[in-house]
Amino acid sequence: MTFDCVIHGGQIATTEGVSTGDIGIKDGKIAALADKIEGGEHRIDAGGRIVMPGGIETHAHIAQESSSGVMTADDYLSGSISAAFGGNSSFIPFAAQQRGENVDDVLATYDARGSRSVIDYSYHLIISDPREEVLTDQLPRAFARGITSFKVFMTYDLMNIGDGGMLDILTVARKHGAITMVHAENNDMVKWMNRQLADRGLTAPRYHAISRPELAEQEAINRAVQLAKLADAALFVVHVSTEGGAEIIRREQFNGAKLFAETCPQYLSLTRNDLDRPGMEGAKYICSPPLRDTQTQEALWHHIRMGTFVGVHSDHAPYRADATGKFLNGSDVPYPKIANGMPGIGLRLPWLFSEGVVGGRITLEQFVALSSTNTAKVFGCTTKGRIAPGMDADIAIWDPEARYTVTLEDQHDNMDYTPLDGRELRGRPETVLTRGEVIVDKGELKATEGQGRFFGRAPVDLRARPGAPVKEFDPAQNFGTDLRG
Ligand SMILES: [Zn+2]
Repeated sequence: MTFDCVIHGGQIATTEGVSTGDIGIKDGKIAALADKIEGGEHRIDAGGRIVMPGGIETHAHIAQESSSGVMTADDYLSGSISAAFGGNSSFIPFAAQQRGENVDDVLATYDARGSRSVIDYSYHLIISDPREEVLTDQLPRAFARGITSFKVFMTYDLMNIGDGGMLDILTVARKHGAITMVHAENNDMVKWMNRQLADRGLTAPRYHAISRPELAEQEAINRAVQLAKLADAALFVVHVSTEGGAEIIRREQFNGAKLFAETCPQYLSLTRNDLDRPGMEGAKYICSPPLRDTQTQEALWHHIRMGTFVGVHSDHAPYRADATGKFLNGSDVPYPKIANGMPGIGLRLPWLFSEGVVGGRITLEQFVALSSTNTAKVFGCTTKGRIAPGMDADIAIWDPEARYTVTLEDQHDNMDYTPLDGRELRGRPETVLTRGEVIVDKGELKATEGQGRFFGRAPVDLRARPGAPVKEFDPAQNFGTDLRG
């Protein structure tokens, strides 16, 4: 066989281990793995480098309007380029339904936006309006084209769908093999805290962290999990930021719940003290759930090591620190009027490699699992996330020795700040391929606009999550009724 490309002599890292070898690529797929492969139209020398599956970023807000109408600074071109420089070969941003919108129209809008991407892409569908025709008609149609993950919010007045709406969506998702992602914070607890703070005139950015207590996340995670158990549906808790929340997830996973979760680099690298910077500088660090403290960071690392989280994803929510983003409502406004979110798609993996692998907190095998392989399984990316014959040649080649300081100039997103400015990191992706095409090489972009393709996804893989029995749904205990039928 003649290969289009051969990656030669690298340390190939998978979730199972690390070994030296060559990878032969043909027609965008991994065609062969061997100790030595001769030939190839194009040869990449990976000596001294680590070769691993390209990252799959599954928490990113790209070309997405928030419910209050603020557009993210990154579209599918700048967002995907930034992701590629950060070692990702594909991503799954959100397509967001606002209230009153038809899901078919939402997806048509995002298809037009996504067509600029340089890496392969899919969407999670945010649902804020689960009315009858959405549930019976539009969601099944989205599912049929491979959009097998939905996202719901338990907070924000314009997004929160209530417990009943969530049960309805979980039920539809279960029927079609989809997984429901949830932003879990108790809306009324947050609103009540906002009033306590406003009554005392405490509206500087730093009070954002106080306004969204750890208890609000823990209560909502627990509630979301119980709702999912009642519906016997798969649940993915996004951006877990508290030790208590992680403990609930750990316990319920042990009980068998069809439950998965992630955390994000910002909860491991920044604290609420970052919101307490002079003037409005703290606004850059406003995100929800908010940044916590160093004790929480240690606890979250422990849960990463122990497998509570299947991934560490960026929650890239790029709002510039100007009137187009953070300060759309004015430059000196109370914290509830400042856009929530921070950028991170380009630094997610370099930061995790440096602090996790080089820092001795996780193994290289765990890094591969957390950056692509686990995520591919949960979100049904059947041709991505592994280095094996037949898989897409989505590959990242890392220089594990590179040392550098994070600067804004080195970022490829469309932002005017980076929260990790000045951090010293070690290890970075050098060459990145999507379906066998080199898209980034030694700091240079090789991709062309629009070369990424939409990919449909398979149902969630629940083989390792049997489900937690609910007595009232057991025919032996409910007078013989089949309530799931
Ligand atoms: Zn998010």
